[in-house]
Amino acid sequence: MEDKSPKPIRCKAAVCRAAGEPLTIEEIVVDPPKAYEIRIKLICTSLCHTDITFWQAKVAPVFPRILGHEAYGVVESVGEHVEGFAAGDAVVPTLLGQCDHCPSCASEHNNLCTSVPVTMAPGMRRDGTTRCRDAQGSPVHDLLAVSSFSEYTVVDVNQEWELRGGWPRWNLVHQLPFLGWDRSAWRWHKVQRCAERPRSSVLI
Ligand SMILES: [Zn+2]
Ligand SMILES: [Zn+2]
Repeated sequence: MEDKSPKPIRCKAAVCRAAGEPLTIEEIVVDPPKAYEIRIKLICTSLCHTDITFWQAKVAPVFPRILGHEAYGVVESVGEHVEGFAAGDAVVPTLLGQCDHCPSCASEHNNLCTSVPVTMAPGMRRDGTTRCRDAQGSPVHDLLAVSSFSEYTVVDVNQEWELRGGWPRWNLVHQLPFLGWDRSAWRWHKVQRCAERPRSSVLI
């Protein structure tokens, strides 16, 4: 019987080899998604100052690395235990995850999922490994477990936001990457709501 499981994909990515160095367009291999992961074909991405901060190695300096964390794409394949997403779905990856079940996600006063927490260090959120390799087979690290400066990437299912209602008008597509940050910012509103409570303390 034909094996229909996802295979490694060869594609191009903009790779940051060293701090402050120009990105190089390289052929990479993106491994199949593992459990609770989704592989995305990226349609467009944006450049954020956070990318520049990591490019300058001011935070978690690890290279080579694929930057980019605000994007829009379409699901290419899904790993085991992924529910609610299928190939062809339009999605926006986000840097903050949301499981909807842990005490933090269920709370009105916390926007940082504790079951699949955000981390500045590279590595997929559940096992700390990368899904990208360069032409020599060496690992290429991710950024915020998104790495959108690539034709394909793998993101945790908790970091995906499905664009329900189908594809947007083409003239809006270039604005969609900003939703990746916007959704994280939307979760920020929980903190604002917490601040509205009398006698509450908020660390910002
Ligand atoms: Zn950003
Ligand atoms: Zn959670």
